[in-house]
Amino acid sequence: MDAQVIVVGGGPAGASTAWHLARAGVDVLVLERACFPRDKPCAEYLSPQASRILANMDALELCEHSGAAHLAGMIVRAPNGARIQGDYAASHGFTGFRDRGLALPRPVLDEILLDRARAAGARVQEGVRVSDVVRDARGAVCGVRAQRAGESAGDVIASVVVGADGLRSVVSRRLGLGRTARAPRRIAFVCHYRGVGDITSYGEMHVERDGYVGLADVGGGVTNVAMVLPAAAARGAQGNPAQLFDRWLGSRRHLAPRFAQAERISPVRAVGPFAWHARRATTAGAALVGDAADFFDPFTGEGIFAALRGGELLAPAVLESLAARAPRAARRALALYDHARRHAFAGKWRVERLVGLATTYPMLMNCAARTLARRKELADLLVGVAGDFVPPREVLSLRYLAQLLLS
Ligand SMILES: Cc1cc2nc3c(=O)[nH]c(=O)nc-3n(C[C@H](O)[C@H](O)[C@H](O)COP(=O)(O)OP(=O)(O)OC[C@H]3O[C@@H](n4cnc5c(N)ncnc54)[C@H](O)[C@@H]3O)c2cc1C
Repeated sequence: MDAQVIVVGGGPAGASTAWHLARAGVDVLVLERACFPRDKPCAEYLSPQASRILANMDALELCEHSGAAHLAGMIVRAPNGARIQGDYAASHGFTGFRDRGLALPRPVLDEILLDRARAAGARVQEGVRVSDVVRDARGAVCGVRAQRAGESAGDVIASVVVGADGLRSVVSRRLGLGRTARAPRRIAFVCHYRGVGDITSYGEMHVERDGYVGLADVGGGVTNVAMVLPAAAARGAQGNPAQLFDRWLGSRRHLAPRFAQAERISPVRAVGPFAWHARRATTAGAALVGDAADFFDPFTGEGIFAALRGGELLAPAVLESLAARAPRAARRALALYDHARRHAFAGKWRVERLVGLATTYPMLMNCAARTLARRKELADLLVGVAGDFVPPREVLSLRYLAQLLLS
């Protein structure tokens, strides 16, 4: 089953990469350890700009017909109770592909995306775990070691290997590219509820001194509840995440009444710590995309967009690498993707880190929230950046930051 390109992992990053390459006529093999539909702990919100890539992959209508919810913007409640509302449709002059975000369960979204990759011509093998990369005599990656449950491991050979295998990617670790960030060390707990009170068409983030929780309608009367706690506080879960979850929610006076009539309809799943990044996303014969390359914190909710966009950015570099006549030219072609990633994501990475600081230091969050609650135009800009259609420089300028913290 050798191929021109092996994509390890069939989540949004792997499906997008495989779709873009297969459409360009490349023989792509996706190796996915799970059997779809599979779940993935996530707040399940997609930014308005993710819809552009979904539409390109002919997946947008499928997502909408599956019953996805539409989100008009975000509401953030700061530890001091200040309430910020930002809308995607705003008067700042920037417009997204859509003026709303989407929210739908990951088993549904990810299956749609992987099916689109299949329809484009990618071969997809589910239930196959990759345990290592294979290198040629020059040390360049030339394949992977893979194993189907109950069978012995074998080597699969390809010109390029793409690690799209998510957080703590095996490919990234075997290549020595990935690093767990020292801070913030946070654990997330995610589950679905039915019957949560006062759910609107806005995603909600409730920031507290000891963590934050996001609520979002994901269609069909179901609410996604994603709680993120410092790793030290999460240790209290001690094998019973549901108990910690209930205790945390129950002790918030503004949230507890909204859950009084609600029914939890899925187990509470824990994931983390998740802050992680790769020094580079390419090496000879291999590249990383999606969470395998980097993931900071779910607060700004752009991981799925970054995964889809990553596939879009990586495909041209892989094509050029495949067309190269010499190994050095192939390596250089692949490295173009490192530049493309920095160009596309560097601003957003800075915004993510600033928001990460604010969620770590409640005084900072309270100070910014007081301004944002009064100045809706500033809140709209920030929500537009999180929605991936307002350039990050708009909120990284000294003028914006001074208005935020000093006005
Ligand atoms: C708590 C939380 C909330 C989040 N909320 C949001 C949100 O609301 N919106 C948003 O945009 N992003 C959110 N994210 C981030 C988002 O979930 C990820 O960024 C996104 O899933 C990345 O996609 P991916 O394809 O890179 O990785 P994944 O979706 O993790 O897919 C990786 C795939 O690789 C497979 N795999 C792993 N190892 C192997 C192996 N060895 N061999 C073969 N296959 C393998 C896995 O089974 C999986 O299918 C959240 C993350 C967390 C932790």
